[in-house]
Amino acid sequence: MSQLIDGKALAAKLRGQIREQAQEYRQRYGEEIGLAVVLVGNDPASEVYVRNKIKACEEVGIRSYSYRLPAETRQEQLEELIDTLVEDRRVHGILVQLPLPKHLDERAALSRIPAAKDVDGFCAENVGNLAMGRETLVACTPHGVMKMLEEYGVDPKGKRAVVLGRSNIVGKPMAMLLLNADATVTVCHSKTQGLQEICAQADILVVAIGRAKFVTADMVKEGAVVIDVGMDRDENGKLCGDVDFASVQGKASLITPVPGGVGPMTITMLLYNTVVAARRSK
Ligand code: NAP
Repeated sequence: MSQLIDGKALAAKLRGQIREQAQEYRQRYGEEIGLAVVLVGNDPASEVYVRNKIKACEEVGIRSYSYRLPAETRQEQLEELIDTLVEDRRVHGILVQLPLPKHLDERAALSRIPAAKDVDGFCAENVGNLAMGRETLVACTPHGVMKMLEEYGVDPKGKRAVVLGRSNIVGKPMAMLLLNADATVTVCHSKTQGLQEICAQADILVVAIGRAKFVTADMVKEGAVVIDVGMDRDENGKLCGDVDFASVQGKASLITPVPGGVGPMTITMLLYNTVVAARRSK
């Protein structure tokens, strides 16, 4: 039987530390740490994410500034708002909730956020720093995965790590973090041949593809550490991951559940990055 990696418990522990850091910051500098959250339009999933982020900020004593723009917002209006937030000294981190409505140029909008306030860790400068192994603001989900490995005593050094998925927000930064931690890393994607064999060699298998229960026991090495980033719906509409938990849990040594695994860590690392950005601004 595998041991569960409890993302909820770790997130709660880290949020406790972040709360103390935010308080220390207030006492030291006489000001609050601030995160601006921009939501354009009314995508229901985005509304939930934004609400959760604002709530999480309140819980740890980070001041949130929420900006809700109508779906028909023009590019110049969005960029004008971002430019104002860049200049605003109360704001240490800027988050633009994605996806933006189709008529807006996501890349152009995000490129207005300077690396120092890019708490999502998406901008070219922060990604470049990560690729070069420098201290930087790191994308929240893969950063959260590294914290989980650390908490459970999994040292990637010398291990074979396989990352399934190569998105800019999860797969690629995940692979770079594991490489920086001295793992031997293979990145797989939809064109990869021999996926089953490659996955079955992994000591650490991180799955982020958005396909419900895709990874089955035959793709997992006995005793592997399995991290499931996926947030999918099964045939009954129930939340599940990219890993077929029922079949894999007997084989892995450590495994993340969905829900309660990687999910709670993502917002936690956003709070963490906001504290880092605020401290660096001093
Ligand atoms: P994405 O941008 O859609 O990327 C999916 C990646 O998976 C792509 O690289 C794609 O390959 C690859 N892929 C898709 N089908 C595949 C297959 N059959 N075999 C091998 N590779 C395949 O997704 P994402 O944004 O990285 O998100 C992935 C999952 O993580 C989703 O379920 C998402 O909801 C979840 N997620 C969770 C959190 C969290 O906080 N828990 C955060 C972010 C994302 P190509 O590049 O070749 O197309």
